[in-house]
Formats: sequence, C-alpha cells, structure tokens
Amino acid sequence: MNCKEAVQEISSYLDESLDEDLKRTLKAHLKCCHHCQVIFDTTRKTVELYCDGKLFPLPDEVRSRLHAALRKKCQPPSR
Ligand SMILES: [Zn+2]
Repeated sequence: MNCKEAVQEISSYLDESLDEDLKRTLKAHLKCCHHCQVIFDTTRKTVELYCDGKLFPLPDEVRSRLHAALRKKCQPPSR
C-alpha cells in the first residue's frame, strides 16, 4: 500500500466500512509511515468533532468533503 492508497482508506477506516484485510494493511502502513499517521490522527480528530464523541455514520456530504480535503492535503512523495 502506498501513501495515496492509505489516505484513501483512512476515512473508510474511521467510518468502520473497511474490510479486515484492508484494515490490517492500512494499520501496517500507518505503523511505518509518519506522514500518514499524522493524516490519520488529524482525520480522526476531525471526525470526532463532527460526531461530538457519539457514534453515528458521517453524512455523505461530510464524508465527500472529508475525502476531498484529504486528497488535497496528501501530496504523496511517490508522485
Ligand atoms: Zn504513507
């Protein structure tokens, strides 16, 4: 998994819509990639703010805005 893929999966992961295999792959990437760890932390905090600490799915609109923001934010070094 490269950084671009990892960033794409992060919001799905936080949304609990990622399958176990991808979760494992993403976690492994986060362990060894500081860049994506930071994005993961930031995104998680953003999601927590949106949800006010309660567990409910992100509205589609919010999720797509989040995806767009992440894509802008992450300029993978591989590009
Ligand atoms: Zn990465």
